[in-house]
Amino acid sequence: MIYNSIIETIGNTPMIRLNKINKGIKGDILVKVEYFNPGNSMKDRMAVKMVEDAEKEGILKPGGTIIEGTSGNTGMGLALAAIAKGYKCIFTMADKQSKEKIDILKAVGAEVIVCPTNVAPEDPRSYYSVAKKLNQDIPNSFYPNQYDNLSNAQAHYETTGPEIWEDTEGKITHYAAGVGTGGSMCGTAKFLKEKNPGIVTVGIDTYGSVFKKYKETGVFDEDEIYPYLTEGIGEDILPKNVDFDMIDHFIKVTDKDAAVMTRRLSREEGLFVGWSCGAAVHGALEYAKANLKEGDRMVIILPDHGTRYLGKIYNDDWMRNHGFLEDKAYGTARDIIA
Ligand code: PMP
Repeated sequence: MIYNSIIETIGNTPMIRLNKINKGIKGDILVKVEYFNPGNSMKDRMAVKMVEDAEKEGILKPGGTIIEGTSGNTGMGLALAAIAKGYKCIFTMADKQSKEKIDILKAVGAEVIVCPTNVAPEDPRSYYSVAKKLNQDIPNSFYPNQYDNLSNAQAHYETTGPEIWEDTEGKITHYAAGVGTGGSMCGTAKFLKEKNPGIVTVGIDTYGSVFKKYKETGVFDEDEIYPYLTEGIGEDILPKNVDFDMIDHFIKVTDKDAAVMTRRLSREEGLFVGWSCGAAVHGALEYAKANLKEGDRMVIILPDHGTRYLGKIYNDDWMRNHGFLEDKAYGTARDIIA
């Protein structure tokens, strides 16, 4: 098989059974491991779709510049699409995102502008506002706006959903995913629920995000918004890609539980994945423990790769400094002897 460019290798990621972490939980727990995409995250899928839809609509023209606010993974997908198709890229990122993500984007030729995390989205310094301003100022530029661009969810409707359906031969009762822009949860859920309306969906949210309360009460509660560390999920806005009808339940997961579960996935299952993967698995298993029956089957999306978090959750000192590493089981030999 010969591919004409790197972006043709996106998709068809493997589905893998959890064997240890789910001990004592009824049902079959499968994970779809999205770091097998060439940009090492599921966001490759929607990045290429946003670019190709913009080309079709004439919004993105030859020689153009793609400008996006990103937590890193969308930027990587956009950068790959830009290389394959001949565009320039400028990305704005919040300064809470890991240094590895910034360095990776620079490595593939993008310009990266780092913006403060703890300012309101409408503040002119926020990474949303800076991206919008650059789009206004730079001629022949395209601002995909992954939050409200429905090509995002559509990419998962067209690829992630069908792949899960085929790999499980339709034998799936539950689907769980973290929710950031909402594209991967809601596009995939739409496809699966069209195939079988009985499939139950579980969205994973963070403490410090508005989603769960909004789903349960219909209230956009500003008191729900406060800084948190987990990267990629939870929001202080309601993106258009979040279709609340597609998400039956929300579970919130703490930064610590997400970080500890991510490290367990690496050590116990050999899945060297990113921080939001631990959040997704921790939250999904909490739901599964209380609700799954023998014969049920849950699929959980694991969005990205562990290399992006080597300086944070995979670093023992960082974990200790945040109070996330209390036992010594995963420390060094010197720690254990001491
Ligand atoms: N995890 C990571 C690491 C991400 O980069 C993203 C994208 N923001 C998500 C989860 C959430 O995915 P989505 O935007 O499709 O809701």
